[in-house]
Amino acid sequence: MPLMVEQFMCRSDNFGVLLHDAGTGETAIVDAPEEAPILAAIERTGWRPTLILTTHHHGDHVEANLALKQRFGLSIVGPRAEAAKIPGIDRTVVDGETFLFSGHEVRVIETPGHTAGHVCYFLPGA
Ligand SMILES: [Zn+2]
Repeated sequence: MPLMVEQFMCRSDNFGVLLHDAGTGETAIVDAPEEAPILAAIERTGWRPTLILTTHHHGDHVEANLALKQRFGLSIVGPRAEAAKIPGIDRTVVDGETFLFSGHEVRVIETPGHTAGHVCYFLPGA
């Protein structure tokens, strides 16, 4: 089943994104810039998050990690090269690695530049 996407403003200059599989009910949060707008999006959609996909360690991408982990018991994936700077990280990933989110293949692509360890997540089937 294709993933549904909910995008919304976080902070004054950033976005929050939820990915949802209506078949399984699983939801991923792509980065966690700010707790309140993410909670509002969760409430609006009714999508309960199970995972955070972290692209890089900057505060405006990980600020709500621990609060969301405590609230929802979700797990946090992020780049191995920045693991020490990503609050609550459970699993580290590297370039070329693949894993499943709700049955969808997620490919990890390292995209250094903005930060040395930045990664992108590509879901080719979704
Ligand atoms: Zn950044």
